[in-house]
Amino acid sequence: MGNKRKKLIAGNWKMNKTYDEAKALLSELSQIKSPPCDVAVCTPFIYIKEAADMMKDTGVYVGAQNVCNKESGAYTGEVSAAQLSSIGAKYVIIGHSERRAYYGETDDTVNEKIKLALSCGLLPIVCVGESLEMRERGITGDHISIQVKLALMGLSKEDMKRVTVAYEPIWAIGTGKTATPDEAEEVCALIRGVISSLYGDDTAESTRILYGGSMNAKNAEELLKKPDIDGGLIGGASLKSADFLKIVEAGRQ
Ligand code: PEP
Repeated sequence: MGNKRKKLIAGNWKMNKTYDEAKALLSELSQIKSPPCDVAVCTPFIYIKEAADMMKDTGVYVGAQNVCNKESGAYTGEVSAAQLSSIGAKYVIIGHSERRAYYGETDDTVNEKIKLALSCGLLPIVCVGESLEMRERGITGDHISIQVKLALMGLSKEDMKRVTVAYEPIWAIGTGKTATPDEAEEVCALIRGVISSLYGDDTAESTRILYGGSMNAKNAEELLKKPDIDGGLIGGASLKSADFLKIVEAGRQ
């Protein structure tokens, strides 16, 4: 039995592609006219405007990989939610584990960023995930619940209509080690349970929860079949159009 959530396949290019390479990949992706699910490409900041222009007549949305937790002003090197929105970004990834690990992102800054993104009309994709050590110690559920609760603190039911959560086990990101469909489903279902406890069943049932972590053209279909996995956040496999298009096709369910 299907659910009422449309799947979302979002590519996270990370810090990859020079300008010419980015344009070539965008040009290949611009062939996607009526995708079987929602599709987004989260490019480096510097390509967002051009990506949004190139994707204008396609079914592909453009997103950012991060946003500043301040509204505007003297924050050298940062990019605001209003700036992203003004150049055509629709989605923004917030709280990716690489940002948390290398750039001091905390649950508090994640929460601030989500609120600012929403206030500027962006759709946040909020990342949560456990380390291998947490999984081995059996505290995955506790950790994920706390991360989700802190990220969503102060958000209303109305806000939740525009929030997507991405479950990304840190041990599976960029490692080629994918969570099994059952492992991924278990945590995505747990996240839905947390959302239900905060906002009720209706909101939980309509919130999209993605899986990310070495999803690729081969394993996407099996993962996306699971009832609580509403799409994928794709790193490495979003850098080649053939692979990414296969994953998009697996979103037709
Ligand atoms: C990611 O960085 O969000 C990700 C899931 O990366 P990869 O697909 O390369 O594991």
